[in-house]
Amino acid sequence: MPMEATSTTDALSGPAREFLGRAPGRHFIGGEWLEPAGGATFQTIDPATGAPIADVAQGGPADIDRAVAAAREAFEGAWAKTSPSKRTGMIWALAEAIKANLPELAELESLDNGKPVTYAKGDMAAAVNHLRYFAGWPTKIEGETLPVSFPDAHVYTRKEPVGVCGQIIPWNYPLLMAIWKLAPVLATGCTTVLKPAEQTPLTALRLAELIADAGIPAGTVNVVTGDGSTGAAIVDHPGIDKIAFTGSTVVGREIGAKCGQQLKRVTLELGGKSPNIILPDADLDRAIKGSFAALYENTGQVCSAGSRLFVHSSLHDRVIEGLAEFAVQAKVGPGLSEDTELGPLVSAEQHERVLGYIDSGTSEGAELVTGGGVPAGNGISEGGYFVEPTLFSGVSDEMKVAREEIFGPVLVALSFDELDEVAARANDTDYGLAAGVWTRDISSAHRLAAMIRAGNVYINNWGMGDPSAPFGGYKASGVGREKGHANLDAYLEVKTVTTRL
Ligand code: NAP
Ligand code: MG
Repeated sequence: MPMEATSTTDALSGPAREFLGRAPGRHFIGGEWLEPAGGATFQTIDPATGAPIADVAQGGPADIDRAVAAAREAFEGAWAKTSPSKRTGMIWALAEAIKANLPELAELESLDNGKPVTYAKGDMAAAVNHLRYFAGWPTKIEGETLPVSFPDAHVYTRKEPVGVCGQIIPWNYPLLMAIWKLAPVLATGCTTVLKPAEQTPLTALRLAELIADAGIPAGTVNVVTGDGSTGAAIVDHPGIDKIAFTGSTVVGREIGAKCGQQLKRVTLELGGKSPNIILPDADLDRAIKGSFAALYENTGQVCSAGSRLFVHSSLHDRVIEGLAEFAVQAKVGPGLSEDTELGPLVSAEQHERVLGYIDSGTSEGAELVTGGGVPAGNGISEGGYFVEPTLFSGVSDEMKVAREEIFGPVLVALSFDELDEVAARANDTDYGLAAGVWTRDISSAHRLAAMIRAGNVYINNWGMGDPSAPFGGYKASGVGREKGHANLDAYLEVKTVTTRL
């Protein structure tokens, strides 16, 4: 479909503009670009201006049928015949293709999601590293020979791919989250029907082209665009063996319930309200800088954002002052401007939602230290979904802004006195995705790390991740782990073979 020129798309480089001109209005199914069966399309929007970028295919049940059939055919055919060593080569080739097209992918991501282009480049580099890590695994997925106690027997296990997967991707790290999902699929020999979020479909469609270029057999990866109903059609499809989802806890619960009913395998990576704790002996400069990034990076649209800041009462005022200085200085603007530090929120819906939380904080009596409004100047368009970096202090544990995931640039600061007290308050949440501790005291750091019920604890950093390190949630933050070899198990069945000799 032809793209509509907006002031921001005018600023794109040649390759990004060419891509917008050729691909977005179709699904990638069985290695071909197919028109949506129902003929419907929707627009993806530039969050920096509110203007449409391109028309994208709206996937329905007939498209999902076709994609599942293509994925099944590849699973039983060409992909099943691809040796582990060849799979390694193809995953590596895909990593190289992303690297070779990194500036273009980063521009498309920035345009569609709103994030600063420099930050999007970091996402792409992380995607390359992720694929390189998983590229090594196909040749190392081993069964075991078991020392059974009955005589004249030979018993061993085989690890086999679970089958056709359905993978539903969020909009906050569109390409990187697609790669987190795809890498274990490719490593284990599964196939997939992948749906990017309706807000950010562009880089998944460019990725589909690169998947074909990397020589990955047709049907192994199918990309179907659409909205929540398209996601639901994937979850409901009887031809799908396993679902992997990242997104809101509300939708995650619904998907988990459906998968339970159908006995589909499922992994869920959901929301958070992660506690970030500054102890009295912290290196304060590092703690303030790190705690600022922990929440405001990606404009606060991070599942593992450090969104509940617990500051020891002896440091409270200094920390609030330091954070407010960073917030006032942060450059808010369009993602495609090189000096932007905080881009817009992804959509009008998120914009309204986040502003609603700011109102709620004020009306519940929290102190608005800085921000709270919609910024202007610095190339900011009135139609864009911008929110000032916002800081509340004097927040109490029961306030809505301290309990619910805001998913925007709104940090709430609470004060504490004792280690046991802060551990109990940090754990008083339905969520359990991440937590942070800033301290120079090894004992306090590791005591807290053990006390906190969360899948990831960061000590003197926030969010340092590596493809080898598992990531996922306790409690309502999810089921299962992504990254690391733990992620492979979610895509494998174990078969025990017992022989009487
Ligand atoms: P969402 O509805 O959970 O969307 C996530 C993905 O699920 C998207 O691809 C979405 O499709 C799809 N989806 C929606 N309804 C579905 C259904 N019934 N069955 C199957 N798939 C479905 O998230 P959202 O509404 O965009 O954002 C709302 C809140 O979710 C945010 O404010 C934030 O709190 C949370 N969130 C968390 C993460 C995370 O990283 N954990 C990421 C994004 C959002 P469409 O987008 O195409 O409709
Ligand atoms: Mg968009």
